[in-house]
Amino acid sequence: TFQALILNNPDELFAAELQSLPITALPEGEVLVQVGYSSLNYKDALAVTNMALVVRQFPIVPGIDLAGVVQESHDERFKPGDRVFATGWGLGEKYWGGFAQYARLKADWLMPLPDGLDEQQTMQIGTAGFTAMLCVMALEKQGVTPASGEILVTGATGGVGSYAIVLLAKLGYQVVAATGRAAQLGDYLKSLGAVRIITRLEPTKRPLAQPEWAGAIDCVGSQTLATVLSQIHYGGSVATCGLAGGGDLSTSVYPFILRGVNLLGIDSVMQPLSQRELAWSRLAALMTDDRWQVMQSRVVRLDQVLEISPQLLAGTSHGRTVVAC
Ligand code: NAP
Repeated sequence: TFQALILNNPDELFAAELQSLPITALPEGEVLVQVGYSSLNYKDALAVTNMALVVRQFPIVPGIDLAGVVQESHDERFKPGDRVFATGWGLGEKYWGGFAQYARLKADWLMPLPDGLDEQQTMQIGTAGFTAMLCVMALEKQGVTPASGEILVTGATGGVGSYAIVLLAKLGYQVVAATGRAAQLGDYLKSLGAVRIITRLEPTKRPLAQPEWAGAIDCVGSQTLATVLSQIHYGGSVATCGLAGGGDLSTSVYPFILRGVNLLGIDSVMQPLSQRELAWSRLAALMTDDRWQVMQSRVVRLDQVLEISPQLLAGTSHGRTVVAC
C-alpha cells in the first residue's frame, strides 16, 4: 500500500484525508512513478481547501507537480530507474497528481529531470518557477531587454513572484518588487535581486498614468493588473499569469491603443513539450548555486499539506513549499 491525499465530494460533502491505498487503486497509465517530492502551489491550496472549482473529477489525488523514479513503464521513452518529473497537464485537477507516494501517468506528461537538478530542486522550482520562466520568455519575445527600463513584479514574495525576480535579475534586468510585506520581506526580495521594493499597487480609475515600467510580470490580477497596465511605457509588455488578488479585470482600451501596450497571457498547464524543454533548460542554467542559497523554501510532509494550505491562500507564507512524499 501507499499513502495518498484523497479529495472526495460525495453528495456535495467535500472531504480531504490521507489514505492508505493499494497500488491497484491508481488510475490507468503507461508509467508508474514512485513520487519523491511534489510542491504546494496556489492552485493546490485552492483544491485541498475546496475554495474554487479547481478539481473537475472526484475522487482525486491533488498536486499539480511531481518528481520521482520510474518503477514500471509500458512506453519506450522511459525505463525503471529513470528520474522524471511532470507539471500541469491537468494533474491534480482532472487526473491524479503528486500528493501521493505513487502515481501512474501518461508518458507524454513526463520529462527527464533537468540537467544538474535533483527531484527536490525540480519541485522547488515546480509550476511556480516554470511559470515565471515562461513569463520572462514572453517578455523577451516582445523585445523587452535589460536596456528597456525597469520591470515590475507583483505578488513578489509568492512562488511565481520570487522566481520572476531571481530570473529577471540574473538576466540583467532592473527589477522592482511590489509586495504587501515590504517590512518583513523587503530584504529577502533584495537578496533575490530586486533593486527597489514598493507597496502593493493601489486601484486606479485613470486609464493612463505616468509611465513607469518597460514590462511587468503580474501574479495578482484584478485591480492590480489594471493599475499595472496604466503605468507601462509606450510599447511595453505585461505577462499576466495569476489571480491572487482576484480573477476579474476592469480596464480600458487606452493603454493598448494609445501606448501600444501588450498584454501577454501565460498558461503553464498545457505548454507543449518543446517550450517546456526550453524553459527548463534555461531554469537549470540560471539557477546557479548562489541563487539556490538565497531562494527561501520549506519542505513539509504529505500529512502537513492540509494544515498548511490555508496559510498559502491567506498570503502569510512566502517562497516555495516543497512536499516530501
Ligand atoms: P503564492 O505563492 O501564494 O503567491 C501569491 C502572492 O500574491 C503572495 O505571496 C502575495 O504577495 C500576493 N497576494 C496574495 N493575496 C493578495 C491579494 N489579495 N492582493 C494582492 N496581492 C496578493 O502563489 P503563486 O504560486 O506564486 O501563484 C501566484 C498566482 O499565479 C496565483 O494566482 C496562481 O494561481 C497563479 N499561477 C498561474 C499559473 C499559470 O499557468 N498561469 C501558474 C502558476 C501560478 P505579497 O505579499 O508579496 O504582495
